[in-house]
Amino acid sequence: MTQRQISHDFDLPLCADGHQARHMLDMRAPRVGGGDFIECQCRSTVRHGDFDQALAEWCRLNDTKKPRIPKRAELLQFRLPLQRSARP
Ligand SMILES: [Zn+2]
Repeated sequence: MTQRQISHDFDLPLCADGHQARHMLDMRAPRVGGGDFIECQCRSTVRHGDFDQALAEWCRLNDTKKPRIPKRAELLQFRLPLQRSARP
């Protein structure tokens, strides 16, 4: 699996059609399309270098306000080491 879902202790804004959004992390290197993105069943953002940028695009896509993110959310954003693809 190259993608995993990142949990937050706050709800991401719904899409414009009312779907639940998920924060996903594509663990491939950024140059081959990895990064943070947000998706629901009908749309998704492009990959971004961090969650904040992905969230900003998500809100722009869905014409919604960016939620105030609790500080603790930063700590919950685990990142697995990207060693698998970096190994020679
Ligand atoms: Zn949707």
